[in-house]
Amino acid sequence: MTYPDNLLYQVTKPARYTGGEWNSIVKDWDKTFIKFALSYPDVYEIGMSNMALPILYDLLNSQPDVLAERVFAPWVDMEAILRAEGIPLASLESKHPLKDFDIIGFSLGYELTYTNVLNMLHLAQIPVLAKERDDSHPIVIAGGTCTLNPEPMADFIDFFVIGDGEEVLPELLDCFRDWKVKSASKQQLLQQVANINGIYVPSLYHVEYQADGLFKSITPAVPTAKPTIQRRIVSQLPPPVTKPVVPYIEVVHDRGAIEIQRGCSRGCRFCQAGIIYRPVRERPQSEVLQGIGDIIANCGYNNISLVSLCTNDYTGIDKLVANIIHHYPEHSLTLSLPSLRTDSSSVRLVASLPSHRKTGLTFAPEAGSQRLRQSINKCISEDEILKTAAAAFAKGWNSLKLYFMLGLPTETMDDVQEIVQLIDKIYSLGRKDTGRRPQIRVSVSTFVPKPHTPFQWVAQANQSELDAKHDLLKQGLRRTRSHLSWPEYKVSLLEAVLSRGDRRLGRVIYHAWQLGSTFDAWDEHFNYENWLRAFAEAGLEPDFYAKRERSLDEPLPWAHIDVGISTEFLKQEYQHALDGRETPDCRTEICNACGLERWQPQCQQRYP
Ligand code: SF4
Repeated sequence: MTYPDNLLYQVTKPARYTGGEWNSIVKDWDKTFIKFALSYPDVYEIGMSNMALPILYDLLNSQPDVLAERVFAPWVDMEAILRAEGIPLASLESKHPLKDFDIIGFSLGYELTYTNVLNMLHLAQIPVLAKERDDSHPIVIAGGTCTLNPEPMADFIDFFVIGDGEEVLPELLDCFRDWKVKSASKQQLLQQVANINGIYVPSLYHVEYQADGLFKSITPAVPTAKPTIQRRIVSQLPPPVTKPVVPYIEVVHDRGAIEIQRGCSRGCRFCQAGIIYRPVRERPQSEVLQGIGDIIANCGYNNISLVSLCTNDYTGIDKLVANIIHHYPEHSLTLSLPSLRTDSSSVRLVASLPSHRKTGLTFAPEAGSQRLRQSINKCISEDEILKTAAAAFAKGWNSLKLYFMLGLPTETMDDVQEIVQLIDKIYSLGRKDTGRRPQIRVSVSTFVPKPHTPFQWVAQANQSELDAKHDLLKQGLRRTRSHLSWPEYKVSLLEAVLSRGDRRLGRVIYHAWQLGSTFDAWDEHFNYENWLRAFAEAGLEPDFYAKRERSLDEPLPWAHIDVGISTEFLKQEYQHALDGRETPDCRTEICNACGLERWQPQCQQRYP
């Protein structure tokens, strides 16, 4: 079933719903045993820029008896039409309604997409609550970074995949095949998958709370449920995806992408990705080079992004870039290097690219003062930041974008004042070196404490505190006429609530969605009043989750998810933050015994 043309003419960007893109895979529906809907709870342009989706699409479709098709959250105009016409949400490839699939797998990478998950299920005419779905409904699963604290979404998801999907999916598919052949019940499947490492089935656990409302424990309710769920980790990156679907409309990252490394060992204390993707796994240069050639041949891209949490931490990045340019000159290839470290070697690296445009360079010092950078373990000296800016101006850039965070633990007004002083120095440097007025954009985000990080116990800053800091920046940055931007506080507050929430938040998410909240990550749709009403209806307080400092021995609702990093290490790192003490990068210095040495062979070799 395709969406009728007369309906598609009425919506913005109909190509979001047509499918048929280059490299998309349409298998014979009737002859394929397992049907898997890869679901992304945001619009097409965002979902098609996600790195995990092509990996899973490729992996699943490589199995002869499995078909994987994509579905994205329909924008509000399309949603209105689907509801008015009673048309169920369908996949892009075969246009089958989602309710005809065996498995619907959501990618959860941002907490503010949670209501879209509920909305997509409802549009698919599938019960939103897991307990209301029976053997006739698809199994609804989820993976992605948010599942490292799965509890807020536990009411809606049958089971979660924790860690690298490439590692878990083959075992999961074996289990599913076996179950489907036997035509057993959904309950039997849940019991079976609970045996697979990295699978968390929330309905198989008891949750208890203390009399004062604090979370108490999550314990197995059946023998098959494990007390802790270990994150799955691929020890070696599987071959890169070289035949991804090529969108027909512009998407956020409109280029080819190759993951050159996964994980980061720098240990910034605010950064969840730096913890939950450990250890670092690099793709060999030969594989990157071959992969780029294949992507060019299969997709026609002439812009390729070398994806990593910190691109220039890749061993021999200069050599890799030089080799790529040497191998593919005839394609006039443009390379994108996202996530560059703040140092002058980054500038040299970008300047070495043949067709780099001088539109702007972006760096993230994160904090204005050396003291605070030391505390968050982003130990870049002011001297290094100024050298980086000087190198950029010397190479012809006149526009710099700098990212900072406000509301970091131990931050004072003096630290914020030092952002102003730092920008002043960069501005003066630019004027002196180029004779022109440099364009400096200062982007400030609000610190959100995340689970499984050394700051998982801290309170999020109050709005009044942050307003005063924003005012200081506004005044202070006038002299340099820097452009200053920051997000809506309540968006960060809701992110803080949902990221460190417990299972009771399922009621809040459900109420907020019933009140009409969807696309919460989009400014024009974010409705905090809905959320306040939803909290009131559930008898809960957002501040309890976001603004309350936890004691170090308080039970945490995500503690049963073992990402591999020990609580002792996180506590030690928290203390080091308070002491302003650096923890060195474990790739260049000694192993810091973060806990992964228990599991990972490459870490065991380095463990003292
Ligand atoms: S165990 Fe050691 S080497 Fe491995 S990620 Fe942790 S600190 Fe680094």
